[in-house]
Amino acid sequence: MTDEELIEKAKSLVKPRKLRHGLTAADCGSVLVTDQGNVYSGVSIDTTSGMGFCSEHGAIAAMVTGGEYKIKKIVAVLEDGIVLPPCGRCREFMYQIDEDNLDTDVIIKKDKIVKLRELLPYPWDAEDN
Ligand SMILES: [Zn+2]
Repeated sequence: MTDEELIEKAKSLVKPRKLRHGLTAADCGSVLVTDQGNVYSGVSIDTTSGMGFCSEHGAIAAMVTGGEYKIKKIVAVLEDGIVLPPCGRCREFMYQIDEDNLDTDVIIKKDKIVKLRELLPYPWDAEDN
């Protein structure tokens, strides 16, 4: 799957829906490819009290459900096809799922890919202190 195809697939997941009390879901879509070549996807769910999560979180949960942990490439896309870099929580989440994910290619703009380690130069590690 090319980068453009990944971006298009993530964009196709974006179908903003209103939940109760003005809360929303599926404002952002994410697609990832594992080191085994399998593709997983997810959408954001924006609820209150810290219960909501990013689209990357949803895609990673689907990957773990499938028994995989190593992400080769990941992208998140908003409505209108805007590619969005992962938030700090998702950066750390990818790392904590598997430290090899520091080598994950993260699409942060349409024509820009960086390694997760560039986005997370000092990941949390209780054993490294
Ligand atoms: Zn996030």
